[in-house]
Amino acid sequence: MKVLIMGRPGAGKGTQAANIKEYYGIPHISTGDMFRAAIKNQTKLGLTAKEYMDKGALVPDEVTIGIVQERLLEDDCKKGFLLDGFPRTIAQAESLESFLNENGIVLDAVLDVDVPVEILVRRMVGRRVCKGCGATYHVEFNAPKKDGICDVCGTPLIQRNDDNQATAENRLNVYDKQTAPLLEFYKKRNLLKTVNGNQALDKVFEDIKAVLGA
Ligand code: ADP
Ligand code: ADP
Ligand code: ZN
Repeated sequence: MKVLIMGRPGAGKGTQAANIKEYYGIPHISTGDMFRAAIKNQTKLGLTAKEYMDKGALVPDEVTIGIVQERLLEDDCKKGFLLDGFPRTIAQAESLESFLNENGIVLDAVLDVDVPVEILVRRMVGRRVCKGCGATYHVEFNAPKKDGICDVCGTPLIQRNDDNQATAENRLNVYDKQTAPLLEFYKKRNLLKTVNGNQALDKVFEDIKAVLGA
């Protein structure tokens, strides 16, 4: 199973990716998570990424493409993978396509988790994530049992730097300008599978399974 998951910021990609990873037993590769790990470890990549992420802008293609290619060549990706948050520009999609071709890798599907733009700022601003295990919650829509504490591992939850009103709005604009054209790109290749992401979390996953097949 070799799949891309796309959708506007806050659409539920990370949440559904966790389900897909567990159900299909494939690695979940999130460029956002990779950048956040680099920031935490204060690497050179992290310093570069932070500058862009804090504004809600995209990290430059030349930086992003390289780290994804390196990751896809690791052994665990042989059985399949789920790419989350990449590609986000036409240049990234084109370079991914040549890279996959060169390595004889064929994509099975591109999932688009579709959510109307009006509800997404609320989803982002209410998002809380676990510093320990990366689990994602929402203060209203997917609250942890104990306020501010991860159900899975007991670690305190934090709010992402870029999950504030202004940056969230900017990320949605960046999506429309730079990422939305990818839907047409993958539609032309007959890979695009759209699921309605404006439903209960479990229902969204049911629809994803129906589209991907067991
Ligand atoms: P993305 O990775 O696309 O930015 P997330 O999976 O992190 O999105 O979800 C964004 C926020 O919305 C999180 O707080 C998450 O708990 C919440 N969320 C995800 N899916 C749903 C849903 N179907 N209904 C309500 N809230 C959701
Ligand atoms: P969300 O799912 O809420 O959009 P992500 O974790 O996927 O959040 O991305 C957070 C930020 O990381 C983006 O706003 C952007 O700055 C950076 N980023 C992630 N993936 C890419 C990418 N493929 N190209 C450029 N920047 C990226
Ligand atoms: Zn946790």
